[in-house]
Amino acid sequence: MTVPCPECGTAVPCPADATPGELVICDHCGVELEVVAVAPLKLQVFEEEEK
Ligand SMILES: [Zn+2]
Repeated sequence: MTVPCPECGTAVPCPADATPGELVICDHCGVELEVVAVAPLKLQVFEEEEK
């Protein structure tokens, strides 16, 4: 199962049993993506808070 990367549009492989909060990494642009919904599967860019 794949979901388009919100950053670059590349299909990112996602585990079928992904759960909200899980992180996947886009192989194309290297961005970290957080699973925000599972039905249907939806990803958003994970923004790490750095200080
Ligand atoms: Zn990407």
